[in-house]
Amino acid sequence: MYQVAAGIHNTEVSRVMLSSDYLLDASYLLKAITPATRVIFLCSPNNPTGNALDQAEMEKVLKGFPGPVVIDEAYIDFSPEFSFLPRLNEFSNLIVLQTFSKAWGMAGIRLGMAFASPAVIAILNKIKYPYNLNILTQQKALELLENLEEKDVWVRNLLQERKKLETELMKFSFVEKVFPSDANFLLVRIKEARKVYEWLTSEGIIVRDRSRILLCEETLRITVGTAGENDILLRALKNYGISR
Ligand SMILES: *Cc1c(COP(=O)(O)O)cnc(C)c1O
Repeated sequence: MYQVAAGIHNTEVSRVMLSSDYLLDASYLLKAITPATRVIFLCSPNNPTGNALDQAEMEKVLKGFPGPVVIDEAYIDFSPEFSFLPRLNEFSNLIVLQTFSKAWGMAGIRLGMAFASPAVIAILNKIKYPYNLNILTQQKALELLENLEEKDVWVRNLLQERKKLETELMKFSFVEKVFPSDANFLLVRIKEARKVYEWLTSEGIIVRDRSRILLCEETLRITVGTAGENDILLRALKNYGISR
């Protein structure tokens, strides 16, 4: 989406690769900066790899680039210990993005949040659309925030299910690797990922085939579901194994 938004504004996007095990190398990223660089986006926990980026490396980026550094924390509710939000006061160029779309299960209310220094927020206030946040969304968000513990219960359940799914997935002979996740999904390297993807689709199970992304060859991104949904997935994979 950042690429789409940049395209609409006729702005060039420069992609900087993570290392082969999906780690951020700040010095490599900082070397890619040119006089034309206006803003840097980091996604942590990252999509589709699932891992949170290294805090010290992100700090080097924040200190090494004078312009805004946006950290997309869409998945941070699943690993709040990695959030940069508590450190907002340390970096005047830091913008943290969070959303109600993931852990809150409320993608439909279209509510995201930007946290930044007062100077940055003042600029955002100048360029935002009037009444950009409709009253129905506001009411729903306030309702959700009154039951914060409920979200924490959902997250705790999900983390348990993620652990179970990880353990079970590793037992399949065609699963080569389950990447460590700090998010609500698992990136899984699979032999003939496309075939598995098509099998699951035929069974009515939708996962994401991420194989076309560089460094993600032969991978599926599997969202952690409810206990029942995960069982259905595991049963389908078992049948795939048998049918081979
Ligand atoms: C889901 C997601 C978001 C948030 O999406 P919205 O529904 O527009 O709030 C942001 N960044 C990443 C990487 C995501 O996966």
